Amino acid sequence: MKEINEIKTSETLAVSYDFGERHDFQIEEILALFALPFNDLIFKAAEIHRKFHDPNKVQISTLLSIKTGSCPENCKYCPQSAHYNTGLEKESLMEMSKILEAANAAKDAGASRFCMGAAWRNLHDRDVEKICAIVDGVKKTGLETCMTLGMLTDAQSKKLKEAGLDYYNHNIDTSPEFYSEIITTRSFEDRLNTLKNVREAGLNVCSGGIVGMGEKLEDRAKMLIILANLPQHPQSVPINMLVKVAGTPMDKIEELDQFEFIRTIAVARIMMPKSVVRLSAGRENMNEQTQALCFLAGANSIFYGEKLLTTANPEMERDQNLFKKLGINPL
Ligand code: SF4
Repeated sequence: MKEINEIKTSETLAVSYDFGERHDFQIEEILALFALPFNDLIFKAAEIHRKFHDPNKVQISTLLSIKTGSCPENCKYCPQSAHYNTGLEKESLMEMSKILEAANAAKDAGASRFCMGAAWRNLHDRDVEKICAIVDGVKKTGLETCMTLGMLTDAQSKKLKEAGLDYYNHNIDTSPEFYSEIITTRSFEDRLNTLKNVREAGLNVCSGGIVGMGEKLEDRAKMLIILANLPQHPQSVPINMLVKVAGTPMDKIEELDQFEFIRTIAVARIMMPKSVVRLSAGRENMNEQTQALCFLAGANSIFYGEKLLTTANPEMERDQNLFKKLGINPL
């Protein structure tokens, strides 16, 4: 791999990074992409973005926690893990009427997809019927539906698909090598198994990861390689910047330079050209200029609303103002 200052702009601009839908990425070429001069990388990502997407349209999802806290998993970044004391108020599965109220409010505010998260290790068969009824209810509002419920079996995935679920979110979080530094209560392989079940059931896959957890650049590259080298690129790829929550083991982790975050978005866009890349958690701590660069680099989805599962998100008015300034319209 060439050092950044060895690469001449004229050289990099002559190279086409229009890979199409490849599933055989190797680490060297992805590290070389990350090492491009920033302007060249963003330019290339923006070029590819324009080929497959309207650069002035951003998809909007709203996220609701339908079952909060007491999760038996020990994901070090997560305030919902029962392993850490974050002062989070625990809640059991939300009543259907409240979920529908939130879904209708999200629709009125301009969201096209309603994402619902439950802090479970895995979906239990005893809850499948309730969850399917929720999917059906939210679908009837006219919104697309997305769920994140932990691990799923193939039979459960099929039931959710039959109930009308559009997307299932299951992030791989980081590289296989760094995974055990972040979570020890399940394996990377478990993650891939659920993704397989979801994909084979015909659900749209939403899968991405988190950066800024103390991982190396190689880990960010490998995370994207795992996602892109799946049999199908995930239809939705959320890239999250760690939100440090007091009480979690990641509370004091060193801040990742936001340019590295933007680079990660750009590389994801180049590797998975047709996927929707979501500028996901962490926007609360990004200024408008950083977010604008993320959109330029190929991000074309955001979470909209004042709360993510349990952490803060920019107020809707701030997002509306930013969209206006940038001439972006909701998809
Ligand atoms: S990220 Fe999900 S699985 Fe991990 S502790 Fe939080 S709620 Fe549980």
